[in-house]
Amino acid sequence: MRCAILSDIHSNLEAFQAVLKDIEARGGADEVWCAGDVVGYGPNPKECIALLREHRYVCVVGNHDWGAAGRVDISYFNTDAATACLWTGRQLDADEIDYLENLPMKVERDDFTIVHGSPRDPIWEYLLTDYVADINFKHFQTRYCLVGHSHVPFIFEERESGRPVFRDLPEGKSVKIGERRLIINPGSVGQPRDGNAKASYILFDSEKKSLIHYRVPYKVIVVQDKMRKVDLPPRLIQRLSYGL
Ligand code: ZN
Repeated sequence: MRCAILSDIHSNLEAFQAVLKDIEARGGADEVWCAGDVVGYGPNPKECIALLREHRYVCVVGNHDWGAAGRVDISYFNTDAATACLWTGRQLDADEIDYLENLPMKVERDDFTIVHGSPRDPIWEYLLTDYVADINFKHFQTRYCLVGHSHVPFIFEERESGRPVFRDLPEGKSVKIGERRLIINPGSVGQPRDGNAKASYILFDSEKKSLIHYRVPYKVIVVQDKMRKVDLPPRLIQRLSYGL
């Protein structure tokens, strides 16, 4: 089976469409796995929810999905994120709110556990250090875990002794995954934060046990114009240019 692994679409329709087109150009995927935050920050929450639902997919809930649906306290968000959450909530109809509210926190698929933040705290925890990764390897049973939330693509590899090892995900290179347990982040489709403004995702081949990380350019200016028109916070508009 070929899976498109992605996360943090964040209401960025142009980036999401560009990624889906790229997946098709590379032979397509049998399933899309999404590690949460379909909405929040960007200008097209309704369209991104609808586009995801057109596919064969699994998706877990992210903090922004529940933020927009009113299911978490938005005082946990910074001011810009909270503003975007409230704006997003106002755009959604009852069916879309219901959809976001009922996304699962954790899904097991094949050898993967899929969560947004971390297996220990799927909604809020940022998994970015070897210390936090080490604790979290004890919180899932499958061989691999898929996370999002930090918008940074990486792999943490478990060791028999000592802390897990952080590995960059090289762009366009096939990475074999084997016996070792891994925590994998595909980066963000709609708001990358690793200094690369292009949309980020992974294609995974479950028979070959290999994955490839891809970056896809999209029309950032079009998204920024839409955000300006609906008065989303300037900092959220600017950061798309830099991927930070
Ligand atoms: Zn996010």
